[in-house]
Amino acid sequence: MSTFSAPRGTYDLIPPESADYLAVREAIAAPLRRAGYGYIETPGFENVELFARGVGESTDIVTKEMYTLTTKGGSRLALRPEGTAPVVRAVLEHNLHRGALPVKVWYSGSQYRYERPQAGRYRHFSQVGAEALGAEDPALDAELIILAVDAYRSLGLRNFRLLLNSLGDRECRPVYRAALQDFLRGLDLDEDTRARVEINPLRVLDDKREAVQKQLAGAPMMPDHLCEACKEYHEQVRGLLTAAGVEFEDDEKLVRGLDYYTRTTFEFVHDGLGSQSAVGGGGRYDGLSEMIGGPPLPSVGWALGVDRTVLALRAEGVELPQPSRTQVFAVPLGEEARRALFGVVTELRRQGIATDFAYGGRGLKNGMKSANRSGAAYAVVAGERDLAEGVVQVKNLDSGEQVPVPLDGVVAELRRNLA
Ligand code: ATP
Ligand code: MG
Repeated sequence: MSTFSAPRGTYDLIPPESADYLAVREAIAAPLRRAGYGYIETPGFENVELFARGVGESTDIVTKEMYTLTTKGGSRLALRPEGTAPVVRAVLEHNLHRGALPVKVWYSGSQYRYERPQAGRYRHFSQVGAEALGAEDPALDAELIILAVDAYRSLGLRNFRLLLNSLGDRECRPVYRAALQDFLRGLDLDEDTRARVEINPLRVLDDKREAVQKQLAGAPMMPDHLCEACKEYHEQVRGLLTAAGVEFEDDEKLVRGLDYYTRTTFEFVHDGLGSQSAVGGGGRYDGLSEMIGGPPLPSVGWALGVDRTVLALRAEGVELPQPSRTQVFAVPLGEEARRALFGVVTELRRQGIATDFAYGGRGLKNGMKSANRSGAAYAVVAGERDLAEGVVQVKNLDSGEQVPVPLDGVVAELRRNLA
């Protein structure tokens, strides 16, 4: 071990487990690509104000979890804690919203949040996200939810649930908010929670503490306060999901406590993860663009946690297919063989065959040990005597059968055997 280790709340992705993270990212991206989402990549840090305004001054992310820094030039930046505000910033900056709508983009990358590290909760983690901007259409909300479900299913994940709610819009949400505040002001709550009642009352519904939850019985609930337009919109989303064979649970307490969230709100939870059960979440954010100085741009999106999805797959015992395993392993004996077989290795790789080599000249026994450990189907072995006869030995590592093959024909022979 060196003097250093990965910072608290972070971990390294190392092979072979790192392959699962790539597979998860790829599985989430594939349905998005098929649905017309283009790849977007924004910087790992942004002006801190973008998040303060775009995520919300009263949220945990902004009040407690941001990594902020001041540059030598005096700019106040924050490491990216989430992807939506940066995407909206980029879409507006490049005027994508002036073109065909909706703008559909997906991203994949690191997020940074200063949280209390625990299983499934890290300070550096990764998400794949998707956003559809500039359209108000229940089919768009349904599309995104279906794409997430299809991604999880394609990975073989089964024990996840979709929680669904509507948070209303500019018309009905304020009326509900006031009614909820009235109710909450009459409860016996600690000082922090009382403050939350004034700033972000919906978040109180989300309080995990028993003492708070007990008092919430009889609280006014959003579904009973939706205006006709929101009710109709939500019914359409529900109908489209049902028609697509996507099951969901109506969860009237599901709030994504940010001011910009409107209407459709959802979360994917997995029951094998203990208290860090959310594997992904999202919703409609019709007000966000305006909050960061843009025009009205009704939008919907989600972010799925890659780390927790990997944990969920492990909890279910799902084995992901490993990417291109070594197929051929070359073991040279001596200088001349090293040169000849290195050429064979290079050519096999160029022809698309996953090939590895016994580096370091550690002899036949060690070389064959490495060949077997690599999982390769064939070993190619050659020593001076073989080369003098113009051949190499091709050994089938399953059967143990070994045959001499002319050096200049070995690439073609292996291609045939592996086809
Ligand atoms: P939580 O309620 O667990 O804090 P969140 O509401 O903060 O989640 P989002 O901001 O909606 O999470 O992010 C979407 C997904 O990203 C989450 O569902 C989760 O899978 C993942 N995620 C969020 N925070 C972390 C973290 N600190 N470590 C690992 N994954 C995370
Ligand atoms: Mg959180």
